[in-house]
Amino acid sequence: MTDAYDNDNIFAKILRGEIPCHKIYEDEHTFAFMDIMPRGDGHCLVIPKMPARNLLDADIETLGVVQATVKKIGTAVMKAFSADGLTVQQFNEPAGGQVVFHLHVHVIPRFDGVKLRPHTGDMEKPEILAENAEKISAALK
Ligand code: 5GP
Repeated sequence: MTDAYDNDNIFAKILRGEIPCHKIYEDEHTFAFMDIMPRGDGHCLVIPKMPARNLLDADIETLGVVQATVKKIGTAVMKAFSADGLTVQQFNEPAGGQVVFHLHVHVIPRFDGVKLRPHTGDMEKPEILAENAEKISAALK
């Protein structure tokens, strides 16, 4: 049995506009923004607007709309960074590597021979995050 959804998790606060983020995209059901401690340049996150702790409590409709946005953002990220590949990750519960308890999918552009940086490592400079968010948004058009 996992814990219940906590309305005060950091991504819920981002969705409510209580904490700033570098937004890339939103539609009726999903939201995409830059990861503040990127494992690679252009690392971004896709989340549902509806509350879900992770894959385990999310309903199928929520998983479907999130995956549709992952496809959209992943395609834009590939184009924006002229990437060689794409890593998509999603962690569940502390033992599964989850740190923030609002369902989210990591979308990370990859380049031949370049390793991922550590998970939740160094904070990126805000101006770099803003620049990368702008690049990905432009590639969505
Ligand atoms: P996970 O829960 O999948 O293990 O990791 C949570 C992710 O959220 C990490 O990659 C971390 O860098 C990112 N993160 C944590 N706090 C914030 C925040 O306040 N803003 C943003 N944009 N990302 C965050």
